[in-house]
Amino acid sequence: MTSRTMVKIDEELCNGCGLCISPCAEGALEIVDGKARVIKDELCDGAGFCIGVCPSGALSLENREAEAFSEQAVIIKREKDAEKRLKYIPQHCFSCNSSEEEKYLLPVKHKGEALWCCTRCLPQLIHG
Ligand code: SF4
Repeated sequence: MTSRTMVKIDEELCNGCGLCISPCAEGALEIVDGKARVIKDELCDGAGFCIGVCPSGALSLENREAEAFSEQAVIIKREKDAEKRLKYIPQHCFSCNSSEEEKYLLPVKHKGEALWCCTRCLPQLIHG
């Protein structure tokens, strides 16, 4: 443990919007139970790139005791995140079967069923 600069998250102010996740190049932040959290101290380098994107002022920097920043831990986290992305299964439009990789999909509900609909088919649903 060492005393160093870390990102601080005010849980009262955090609305869980997730805007701070991607600016963190180290992957230190994730949304857990609807709130942003530093998932491992060794992933946070304390640079504070996340602070400017927070719309609710929930992020700041503080000096506290924490594990030292670890480049190796960041590399391992990036590899895990890449694996997660590879496992993602793209969704398809229920009407024309277009993949979300081809078109934008929006969620719709019909007779209790949750469906995805592409922006090309949606006007037909709306206007008949
Ligand atoms: S950007 Fe701010 S409000 Fe949004 S999840 Fe991150 S800390 Fe919470």
